[in-house]
Amino acid sequence: RAKSAGRNQIAFFEGNMQIEVEQRLTLERDLAKALEQNELQMVMQAQVNKDAQAVGAELLMRWNSKTRGMVSPALFIPLAEESGLIVKIGDWVLSEACTILKRLHANGFQFPLSINVSPKQFRQKDFVEKVRLILEQHQVSGEYLIFEVTEGLFIDNLPETISRMNMLADLGIRFSIDDFGTGYSSLNYLKRLPLYELKIDKSFVQDVPGDANGMAIVVSVLSMAKQFGLKVVAEGVETIEQANYLIENDCDSMQGFLYSRPTSPDVWIANQVPSAA
Ligand code: C2E
Ligand code: MG
Ligand code: MG
Ligand code: MG
Repeated sequence: RAKSAGRNQIAFFEGNMQIEVEQRLTLERDLAKALEQNELQMVMQAQVNKDAQAVGAELLMRWNSKTRGMVSPALFIPLAEESGLIVKIGDWVLSEACTILKRLHANGFQFPLSINVSPKQFRQKDFVEKVRLILEQHQVSGEYLIFEVTEGLFIDNLPETISRMNMLADLGIRFSIDDFGTGYSSLNYLKRLPLYELKIDKSFVQDVPGDANGMAIVVSVLSMAKQFGLKVVAEGVETIEQANYLIENDCDSMQGFLYSRPTSPDVWIANQVPSAA
């Protein structure tokens, strides 16, 4: 009896995996078409200072599929990364970011945009050249771009990564470590990388104030960043209590639903969201 139940479980498990593999393949195929069919779109979420003025914004991708509806980036970005599609999509994000920057500038917004750059995208041989070309084509200065990278980028081939970061920094581009504290890398790299900012992961932000361990982590990141001369932005700020705690502890900027939902650049421009000059 136990034996047959075990066998059924295995059959059930394999059946599920089969479905998963098929779903992945069709999702991948649809994503490949999404770009050409204009189903991808970038939205902006404000990064604000202690006076709630926008000092920057993160660009986040949205996939509004004609057949699937809204698909979460948490689902399709890892898939794009694994299939290699992220390279093409990443190129598009870069040139979209430039287009949006020019529109923002024409409308009186002067802050930089942060974009997420995935490891596979960063590791392309011609990545730096590509970035240089796209900036040139759009006549945009790299000083208006902040690349958000994750700690995973520093796990292997560090010397190559550092030299590439330096070349991008020469174009004016700044680097932020996204989801800081959730990766597996050592703190040793912090002193070796040309970094501008650490981005405290929302899982830590959601623990303050109130949770002693959460507060210890946030305060430690803030003080470490200060020692290294790095800025800190907190992500996933949802409550006024979280914001007050971060401000009291000298966090440079905050990002989260408390201040703004990710919205299209059109809406930003139409509403003239207040920003620090
Ligand atoms: P991320 O870069 O860490 O982005 C932060 C995520 O938190 C976003 O999810 C954002 O919508 C969400 N968020 C913002 N404020 C709050 C808040 O107050 N509370 C909570 N609970 N969440 C908040 P989203 O847009 O679903 O993106 C998920 C992830 O997908 C991003 O995490 C990023 O890793 C990736 N991603 C998004 N757009 C791109 C892109 O253009 N390129 C690449 N390579 N990755 C992207
Ligand atoms: Mg990010
Ligand atoms: Mg993040
Ligand atoms: Mg995150």
